[in-house]
Amino acid sequence: MNFVEIHDWLRETDDRRLEELWRTADDVRRRNVGDEVHLRGLTEFSNHCVRRCAYCGLGTHTRGLERYRMNADEILACADRAVELEYGTIVLQSGQDSGVSGQWLADVIERIRQQTPLAVTLSVGERSEDELALWRRAGAGRYLLRFETSDRTLYERIHPDLPAGQAGLNGVRSDRIAILHQLRELGYEVGSGVMIGLPGQTYETLARDIELFGELDLDMIGSGPFIPNPHTPLARNGDKHPAPADRQVPNSETMSYKVIALTRIICPQANIPATTAVATLNGRTGYESGLRRGANVVMPNVTPPRYRALYEIYPAKAGVEQDGDYHSLLKERILAIGGRVGEGRGDSLNYINRRITNKEVATCAR
Ligand code: SAM
Repeated sequence: MNFVEIHDWLRETDDRRLEELWRTADDVRRRNVGDEVHLRGLTEFSNHCVRRCAYCGLGTHTRGLERYRMNADEILACADRAVELEYGTIVLQSGQDSGVSGQWLADVIERIRQQTPLAVTLSVGERSEDELALWRRAGAGRYLLRFETSDRTLYERIHPDLPAGQAGLNGVRSDRIAILHQLRELGYEVGSGVMIGLPGQTYETLARDIELFGELDLDMIGSGPFIPNPHTPLARNGDKHPAPADRQVPNSETMSYKVIALTRIICPQANIPATTAVATLNGRTGYESGLRRGANVVMPNVTPPRYRALYEIYPAKAGVEQDGDYHSLLKERILAIGGRVGEGRGDSLNYINRRITNKEVATCAR
């Protein structure tokens, strides 16, 4: 599928045509990654953040938010909980927290890897190449870093560089695409994604985002609707650079499913979650609709309930209320749509096949 076709699908409004898109994506999903739905235990271990992204409630601009950072034992308890729930992966997510040192997180990763069979995914923002290498050596296998939008002007507006003077990070121009390349070189399964319906995001930009997923040959791709947070600059000050109304992408549920479906068609073997933001728009059937339209992953929250409400990226985030019953219900919901709960780590087939091909190339070259 080329850029023009992606663009035209994003603009499609005919329900019958959209049914065709959902069917195609579902078919591509089944043929490439099967009916297994992989569950990842999401652990939001710190809401400290040095950044001031205009869209996000964790930024330094959000005054009055009680900040927390879980200790290593608390994180290990989340890993145990993920094992108990038979998940194959723990996702360690936080704001970009300068209070989390490279070595501290490496020790946590090592403990999880020694004490559990879990794969470890990190989602902790833009960190130095040395730290990324240290965490890879400690046993982290995957890293999620959304590039948020491929439109550099829009990106700079909503994701400002860090002010000079911040230890270790000052003067660094934010370049998430460059970090994605570093992660690939370091041997991580590489995950990225974008927000859908950012003020100023046009259909052309979003089509380019999806095209870029394919060019980057991503192993995991998680995208979700932009949900305005009243505590953030983007919501408080309004957007001063809106796109013309007929070119602005809506942050709607349907648009989110279109992105999931098109992503599946462009990246058939990637792991693609039905994201929390989609479930926030539709708590009743958001996950199911995502899973029927190309997704094959869900990331239930295993963060201790007392911290969840404080990880307020945007209001009314799905997952704050998830408890033991919720986890069994989720499994039932997956079975009800003809899926199977994935067993084991659920590594990305894209990643596995790339490694096999690279090995074959290396053997042939010898
Ligand atoms: N600090 C890490 C990072 O920046 O990659 C991980 C945490 S960050 C909160 C995770 C993701 O939340 C971001 O990549 C962004 O796409 C998403 N996000 C933040 N604010 C959002 C909002 N208002 N609506 C939807 N998604 C949002």
